[in-house]
Amino acid sequence: MRQCRICGIPETVDGVELDESGVCRACRRQIRHIPSRKELREKVRKALENSEKVLVAVSGGLDSLAALGLALRICDEVVALTVDTGALHPEAWRRIILARRMSGIEWEIIGDQKPFLKLFEERLTRAESPCGPCSRMITRRYERRARELGVDAIVTGHELPHGTSPVVPKDPPVIRAMCGMTENERREIVEEEFGLTVDKISGYTSNCIVLPFALKLFYMKYGYSFEAPRLAAMVRYGYISREDMEQIMTPPTLSDLKELLRECEEWIPESLKQMLQKVINKISNSDLGRENGD
Ligand SMILES: [Zn+2]
Repeated sequence: MRQCRICGIPETVDGVELDESGVCRACRRQIRHIPSRKELREKVRKALENSEKVLVAVSGGLDSLAALGLALRICDEVVALTVDTGALHPEAWRRIILARRMSGIEWEIIGDQKPFLKLFEERLTRAESPCGPCSRMITRRYERRARELGVDAIVTGHELPHGTSPVVPKDPPVIRAMCGMTENERREIVEEEFGLTVDKISGYTSNCIVLPFALKLFYMKYGYSFEAPRLAAMVRYGYISREDMEQIMTPPTLSDLKELLRECEEWIPESLKQMLQKVINKISNSDLGRENGD
């Protein structure tokens, strides 16, 4: 299988074409316009300094906690918001509780799991990625709340796509606070602000329990990870290494998924538990599922 020699995206990913020199179209187009890390971090800092009151969207993962820590250092008034999709890993909840206690800030939890659970069921049944629609649903919720609270900006733990600016011109504007920030810098902020160490996790955004299940089903259907384009962009912009990318693109094994469900089943909604058990059964009964690393 050929991969782009810059970002590592496999040729098998839908829509990817490599030229004779082995470079994908996105790399060819974007590689000359990548702003420096320092430049991006300056822009984030300025945007935060110009915002008195902000709403930070926190999922309990490394990136959003670091975004919260950064906002706490710079902004006068910070409100945190967590959207409870029903699929947050218990470890993410533990970090949310500890960070809430350490910071003493106002922390809102929006808990309407139903539409999310419906989405997960529908996507898992078709072996398609739930991430796009799920993150749009989350975004709608914190944007609505931000307008109600009248904050100057929304802060997220995202870094991409940042183009040339980490601030998305919306109402209110969205500051992608992790632009230009390395993983170690994120870890440092989270440790300093909340006394929390976040382990390096496989799957990268594995504070969502549904993601690894969806990745596995998609991989069995298409032979590549639906995270590949996002991860390739992370490599292109220098946020992660090619080795990390390869590791994250490797689908979880059947025993990984069984283990994950075991550790979470007491904490998640019953309907989600049944949904994920069904996925495990489906994979166990398929040769392809068992072949992929089991
Ligand atoms: Zn590329």
